[in-house]
Amino acid sequence: MNVPRIAGHDAIKMTTSTPTFLHDIVKTSRDMWSKGWAEANAGNISLRLTPEIVEANTAFFRTSEWVALQRSVPSLGGEVFLVTGTGRYLRNVELFPEKNVGVIEIDDAGKTYRVLWGYKPAGAPTSELGPHLGVHAVRKAKSDNAERAVIHTHAPNIVALSNALDLDTRILTRLLWRIHAECIVVFPEGVEFIPWLLPGSVDIAEATARALEKRRVAVWQFHGILAAGRNLDAAFGLIDTVEKAAAIYVRAVAAGGVKNQLSVAQLRDLAARFHVQPDETILGEST
Ligand SMILES: [Zn+2]
Repeated sequence: MNVPRIAGHDAIKMTTSTPTFLHDIVKTSRDMWSKGWAEANAGNISLRLTPEIVEANTAFFRTSEWVALQRSVPSLGGEVFLVTGTGRYLRNVELFPEKNVGVIEIDDAGKTYRVLWGYKPAGAPTSELGPHLGVHAVRKAKSDNAERAVIHTHAPNIVALSNALDLDTRILTRLLWRIHAECIVVFPEGVEFIPWLLPGSVDIAEATARALEKRRVAVWQFHGILAAGRNLDAAFGLIDTVEKAAAIYVRAVAAGGVKNQLSVAQLRDLAARFHVQPDETILGEST
């Protein structure tokens, strides 16, 4: 078969010889770049592969040395993940997936991982692997094994709010719920606000895992956003909705200020209409 060449490299071509686990991550990486959320090597994606997908792709896998995890994740023992690479650009995933993405397997004890595919010619999973795995462990348990995707990225409007305003979880969630009617329906449990912590640190991994015990989205002050979902579309959609509402807020302020917004009573009507249960510690009694 003749494979088209781009700048001397084999271009990606989705044929039967392409691992089937690549389809969704290629689309999501392209969308994140197109949205302006993934400058340079910003943003990272992880997807816990189903046993069926792993089984269907074993012919592509290789063996490699086990590497210690920063923080053990016993409940993820034996799981296999598709993870973007450290230092890699999401805008390049589409062209060279085997360089920019990899598949890793966690050992049965949840203490080490090894690369099964990708990160060619040499590389490693994202430096934010710790937060990703911590969140996967929590959401796997909370969702009865349904949630498999985690995305972190630098969505500009939500980061700008962390620069412009004094935020906490309640203030941020109410701001988003009240500015755009979609929000309380899409994330009735709210958005966790996590004050500044060093990227890639054990502290940010533990704080984010704790936050996602109760919610599916967290904002990292001055840095970005992380969300979990059943698949990459669900995690992407959560981030897109939060970022859209933040953008509407920024535009309203630029257009003269937020003079009108949804009341608590209107938010309650929305929640009832769409059968969601908002976090009452956030919605509260006040108008
Ligand atoms: Zn980041």
